[in-house]
Amino acid sequence: MIRLRQVLKRYGSTIALDNISLDVSTGEIFGFLGPNGAGKSTAISLICGLVKPDQGEISVDGLDIRHNALEVKRRLGLVPQEIALFDNLPAWDNVEFFAKLAGLRGALLKERVSEALEFAGLADKAKGVPKGFSGGMKRRLNIACAIAHRPKIIIMDEPTVGIDPQSRNHILESVRQLNKLGSTIIYTTHYMEEAEEICSRIGIIDHGRLVATGTKEELRLLVNEEEKIVIEGTDLNFTCLEQIKALGLVKDARTKGQSLEILTPHAQTILQDILFILQRNLVKVRNITLVEPDLETVFLSLTGRKLRD
Ligand code: ADP
Ligand code: MG
Repeated sequence: MIRLRQVLKRYGSTIALDNISLDVSTGEIFGFLGPNGAGKSTAISLICGLVKPDQGEISVDGLDIRHNALEVKRRLGLVPQEIALFDNLPAWDNVEFFAKLAGLRGALLKERVSEALEFAGLADKAKGVPKGFSGGMKRRLNIACAIAHRPKIIIMDEPTVGIDPQSRNHILESVRQLNKLGSTIIYTTHYMEEAEEICSRIGIIDHGRLVATGTKEELRLLVNEEEKIVIEGTDLNFTCLEQIKALGLVKDARTKGQSLEILTPHAQTILQDILFILQRNLVKVRNITLVEPDLETVFLSLTGRKLRD
């Protein structure tokens, strides 16, 4: 659906995107995860044809954007990082303006504008002007503007920065919903929780380089962090601990108060064996927790720095 090959973009002496190759398939929610200045917005501007690459090729829906800029734009809905609205025009007119730009007219135009406002949870604010809206409402209106023409591909650039939790949840739910309705989504964020929550695949980006791409499970496997199994129970004894330590995949095991912590590269594989040992030693298990390395750990391990400074 979206294909980048060895794309390079410079701003003066800054390399904003450094030789990026990427494929996003139809139906995905693909996330660019990276800190400020990583190159997320640049990648999006390139995909939308808003800026030209210095090197490399980009195609959308099989169309090379160099030769098919207009056709590509019709297939896209962009929610830019900076909110772009007419502050003194009613919400309805804002959506209508962008829907007209995308080619909608007449009865269909009205229908789609109404549908988009409804979708953004702003049906009752159609006559209100953005000037009086909260940050979250403006953001949702901006989304309505981008989706009224029902684009095949929806691109959202950090749509949840600086807004209230309720609007945030609404937006994340909208992303899932739009995807279910058939749109391919590209989503950028510096919040790893969001990327984990909604993205089917994630590209980790730092200093203009795409350092890794994969599902969150695939990304976790890239780092040599151990998983941790925490077992809470009564009558955890020394024999039991020694038997668990003797299991092949156990890196380390120790008791901590009334719980037992086991470090292993493969928790799922050995869980059954551990439970068997506990049962044989008459341990009464109250709770088992599996702690996996998160994307923050992955980012740190791949780039040597934290996602948020
Ligand atoms: P992100 O969206 O991940 O925060 P950007 O794509 O905005 O990152 O920026 C990537 C790099 O390119 C940064 O170093 C930024 O300062 C630089 N950059 C982005 N846009 C411009 C521009 N229009 N002119 C000069 N430098 C830019
Ligand atoms: Mg940005």
